[in-house]
Amino acid sequence: MGPITFDNSYARLPEQFYARQTPVPVAAPGPIRVNRQLAEQLGIDVNWLDSEAGTQVIAGNTVPSGSEPLASVYAGHQFGGYNPQLGDGRAILLGEVLSVEGRRFDLQLKGSGRTPYSRGGDGRSPIGPVLREYVVSEAMHRLGVPTTRALAAVTTGDKVQRDSLLPGAVLARVASSHIRIGSFQYFAARRDIDSLKLLSDHVIERHYPDARNSDNPILAMLEGIISQQAQLIAHWQLLGFIHGVMNTDNILVCGETIDYGPCAFMDQFNPDQVFSSIDHAGRYAYRQQPAIAHWNLSVLAQALLPILDNEQERAVELAQTAINAFPDQFLQANTEGMSRKLGLQAISGQDTGLVEDLWQLMAEHSLDFTLTFRRLADLADEGAEAEGSVAELFEFPEIMQPWLERWHTRLAQESTSRSDRQASMYCTNPVFIPRNHLVEAAILAATERGDLATFDQLVDTLENPYEYRKALALFATPPKPDEVVTQTFCGT
Ligand code: AMP
Ligand code: MG
Repeated sequence: MGPITFDNSYARLPEQFYARQTPVPVAAPGPIRVNRQLAEQLGIDVNWLDSEAGTQVIAGNTVPSGSEPLASVYAGHQFGGYNPQLGDGRAILLGEVLSVEGRRFDLQLKGSGRTPYSRGGDGRSPIGPVLREYVVSEAMHRLGVPTTRALAAVTTGDKVQRDSLLPGAVLARVASSHIRIGSFQYFAARRDIDSLKLLSDHVIERHYPDARNSDNPILAMLEGIISQQAQLIAHWQLLGFIHGVMNTDNILVCGETIDYGPCAFMDQFNPDQVFSSIDHAGRYAYRQQPAIAHWNLSVLAQALLPILDNEQERAVELAQTAINAFPDQFLQANTEGMSRKLGLQAISGQDTGLVEDLWQLMAEHSLDFTLTFRRLADLADEGAEAEGSVAELFEFPEIMQPWLERWHTRLAQESTSRSDRQASMYCTNPVFIPRNHLVEAAILAATERGDLATFDQLVDTLENPYEYRKALALFATPPKPDEVVTQTFCGT
């Protein structure tokens, strides 16, 4: 038995689901970072992972025993246009690992060389996108957002040609699975009903086991995916996270966030904010994310029509009803999250104005998203704010006073104690998010100077997003005007 114990259920699916493909070796692998906590959770020996042998595996130079490497095939709508054939063009699924708790996870290498689905691409990744994905996905995990994770990253010793020659890297990514809306689209578009059924069985088995007991397991699976997506997007909205490429090939049916290409957290609140350098129409702007998720789910429902019911009219009806539930589910998750952020036990009809006015004022006065809510936590129990206070970093402008008074008046109606309320607000309103200018600085340091210390410090700090210490003020500080990053680029 090798250092990783594999159990590869996806590789047991028939050959139309993937192409068998080994990673393409690289010149001179070197370690960037290993995720000790995640390795332990997966029952992978951390010391091995951190060793020369582990580095060679992550770089793709050795295929560990038990791995059955493959590139999966899928389709997808990219910026609204259908692409019938995509697939892992720069990623290889090494296999699946059972965690010490018995949960199944994909272990994938990203940036591991060309595959049959690379089209014109080189199958590689520069170090920048690898570091971005590492830092942001791990931060998301610590913020409680379902997400793929980073197990390890290595350099390759090879250069990658983009606008300039950049150092290459590989990321080992962990996900509950990498099955996407686009995976269903691929078979639906080919009218391959047998494969569509097999894929659904596989997804039900792995992610929605309760659906097996339903009269219509496919419908139950669809409803499960819709509900997971509603929760996920609410999470994003409540943190000011902008995904940037919500194409249907980038939406996992397990409900985890994937693809940290042009993503970013907002600094100043602006509902029209877009980061992706190629998103000229603002399709994936912050305020659009719930509607786009709804649209993506309708694409999934459409793909499932042939297997939702034998009678197509009935299938359409079932799909439509399931899809129609999304807006309310999103709203409910969003409202519950917002009540926690504001220190309220529940938001009722009478609070709608209070909440809407806050968003309005934040946008009008370009308030920092993260610090606005963190400062509210300070103010939830004034006087007790001393140690964790962010007052030195952020103070509400005078114009916010009337709103703050309304909020305090509303808080006075709550039955919870002030200190309990504050404690809970401190646990729900983070002080540290992966600020885009800090992520960019870490990438620049690594790319231009081979300095990984900046990256390591950022990852370390983001492991405790709710615990403020003044020594770490730099990581909680919004960018100065000349530090603001206005665009991020796809990791291609
Ligand atoms: P993304 O925009 O990152 O979701 O990628 C869209 C598609 O392009 C996926 O099928 C990727 O596998 C593929 N792709 C992106 N970058 C590369 C690359 N450098 N080499 C090969 N394929 C790529
Ligand atoms: Mg993608």
